[in-house]
Amino acid sequence: MNREREVLALDFDGVISDSALETFVVAVRTYGKLAGPGGHHPAWAEIEKADSQAILSHPTYQEFLGLMPLGNRAEEFAVALAVIEAGVSVEEQVDFDRFREGLGAEFLANFHAAFYRERSAFRRADPHAWLALVAPFDEFVELLRRRAGDRIFALATAKDRASIDLLLGAYGVADLFPDRLVVDKEAGRSKRAHLALLRERLDVAFEQITFVDDKLNHLEDVAPLGVRCALSGWGYNGQRERNAAVERGFPVLDLAGAEAVLFGNPGEH
Ligand SMILES: [Mg+2]
Repeated sequence: MNREREVLALDFDGVISDSALETFVVAVRTYGKLAGPGGHHPAWAEIEKADSQAILSHPTYQEFLGLMPLGNRAEEFAVALAVIEAGVSVEEQVDFDRFREGLGAEFLANFHAAFYRERSAFRRADPHAWLALVAPFDEFVELLRRRAGDRIFALATAKDRASIDLLLGAYGVADLFPDRLVVDKEAGRSKRAHLALLRERLDVAFEQITFVDDKLNHLEDVAPLGVRCALSGWGYNGQRERNAAVERGFPVLDLAGAEAVLFGNPGEH
């Protein structure tokens, strides 16, 4: 085991990439298709025709952003849209999960598959328009570039590989993440599986890995492994999750303070 090596494993969406707008657009398209003709909420059709600027200020998008901390996987974006459509108030994870149950496993599985089909079709048909919806968190990307070589950088993400490759290239950081250290959605539902795979590939101890994710439940899932955890405060979490993270002893990072927490002060190793 190589004890010299410290690993910085990063979630992608909500850490490196601000995918909320793209996720919303693809989710609305998918949801509209699955609802079928006549079953389509009038607001969805209006959103599908809107440009990015109009979507950003659309109340439905704002509601969707409010629900994003409660979902993790593609099918949970359908849950968020269904909550909005039903006009119910969902504040807590347990309410969200109960609503999710009510939608049925078949619908959710169909949505999951259809969401990725929709995203791939969009990405292939118009890569420029697609990329324009997925901005990087510039300050964090610049930090990674600046500190390249100080840690081994890895990705542990539920996102699909084709999207990650395209985005890393567009953000100019593809060279920072060697192929075998990009662990994508194929590794499974749990981030435990992602980190176990990284540990194995790098021959390090879990204690040598620092993992940054914007979802508190992912950090709670992997913390028992011995991995050091930090929450990206610029990602898809709210005050509720940030407070809970502090209670659990996970640092909550902001863009200005991330470097000191993740790398120590300049010159410190
Ligand atoms: Mg994330």
